[in-house]
Amino acid sequence: MLFTSEHEQFRTSVRRIVEEEINPYADEWEAAEIFPAHELFPKLGAIGAFGLEYETEYGGGGADHSFTVVLAEELGRADMGGVPMAIAVQAGMATPALARFGSDELKREFLAPTLAGDLVCSIAVSEPGAGSDVAGIRTRAVRDGDDWVINGRKMWITSGTQSDWICLLARTSDEGGYQGMSMIIVPTDTPGFSVGRKLKKMGNNSSDTAELVLDDVRVPVRHTIGEEGRGFQMQMAQFQDERLWICYMAVTGARRAIDRTMEYLHMREAFGKPLMANQYIQYTLSELVAEIDILHGFLHLTAERYVAGEDVTRAATVAKLKSGRLSRQVADACVQFHGGMGYAEDLWVARYFRDCRLGSIGGGADEVMLRIISMLEGMGKR
Ligand SMILES: Cc1cc2nc3c(=O)[nH]c(=O)nc-3n(C[C@H](O)[C@H](O)[C@H](O)COP(=O)(O)OP(=O)(O)OC[C@H]3O[C@@H](n4cnc5c(N)ncnc54)[C@H](O)[C@@H]3O)c2cc1C
Repeated sequence: MLFTSEHEQFRTSVRRIVEEEINPYADEWEAAEIFPAHELFPKLGAIGAFGLEYETEYGGGGADHSFTVVLAEELGRADMGGVPMAIAVQAGMATPALARFGSDELKREFLAPTLAGDLVCSIAVSEPGAGSDVAGIRTRAVRDGDDWVINGRKMWITSGTQSDWICLLARTSDEGGYQGMSMIIVPTDTPGFSVGRKLKKMGNNSSDTAELVLDDVRVPVRHTIGEEGRGFQMQMAQFQDERLWICYMAVTGARRAIDRTMEYLHMREAFGKPLMANQYIQYTLSELVAEIDILHGFLHLTAERYVAGEDVTRAATVAKLKSGRLSRQVADACVQFHGGMGYAEDLWVARYFRDCRLGSIGGGADEVMLRIISMLEGMGKR
């Protein structure tokens, strides 16, 4: 992928924010199990991070996907996974459908202030009873005059305790399966909306994750994004952006983890020489570097095809599967070669190990990626 001086300037701006506005607070926010999104997001909004590919009319950058690659790759270098994940939700997981299919009125009211970083948003698809199988969701919106009356529960919602609005997927008709779902914007100050509980997690702790309760929540029907009944299809398209985001961040995160591990191994001595002098360790890390290079190249190729307007569903699925698995391998090697220090909270390694475990679960588990690939390959038909 060819990056111009404009890309490099943008890369520098993102890197500055990561180094000055995020990394110095990593320990504090991880311990608090939340970060101040309403303070951090306007700083990202000021460099255009939330709306790179969206229309300029609503504060977007009108740029192509290559700038998203730069943004996500730089965020992948942060000292924790939680904050980049919440940024990714706001920039590439909760807003693509609104930007593509939302009415002008909805975009002015919700998209524009979100791109500025003044509003924080969440994507609310998963439920206590349905995650991998999105068709199993039970949250229901029933029409009453010009309003939807919504009842249900959403689970694992990133930024759920501090978001101003959620992009909700709900059933709006009795059609079963993949039909009859709609995407609806729900402001979180609407009566009947509440945070059921903030969830305790094994990693990505700086990001707040919540179970949300919708109890007779009434929002205008005009809050529906795009065509009523097409919510599942819009979410599937939105998932593609989400998966690419996850991969771009994972690949630079993995490379940085290897670099930091190499630094440690050059310094740490055992049996009269630096650990890095052991051929076994060199070859193990080299193998992982080679895998990272291949994935990085594949992602840049996929991004180029995306910019050219091609359908990259299959490639995004393959990359999501491989990036989750590779990150886990990298994290395991980093912990192993740090010895006891890899198991301690003093260094970055344990946090990386925990944070990147999510890569094979969130945004569609590895097995869901395998299911999509096997369907695209026509397996199981005969
Ligand atoms: C930290 C975190 C943040 C999240 N943020 C959000 C968010 O902001 N918004 C949101 O909507 N959701 C969010 N999620 C939810 C996430 O997308 C789901 O956890 C994920 O899709 C898996 O769904 P599930 O947890 O219900 O697992 P289940 O659907 O119960 O599946 C459990 C496991 O079963 C296996 N499995 C599933 N299907 C198959 C199959 N067909 N064949 C073989 N094996 C299978 C997989 O190994 C899977 O991990 C988040 C989750 C976490 C942990």
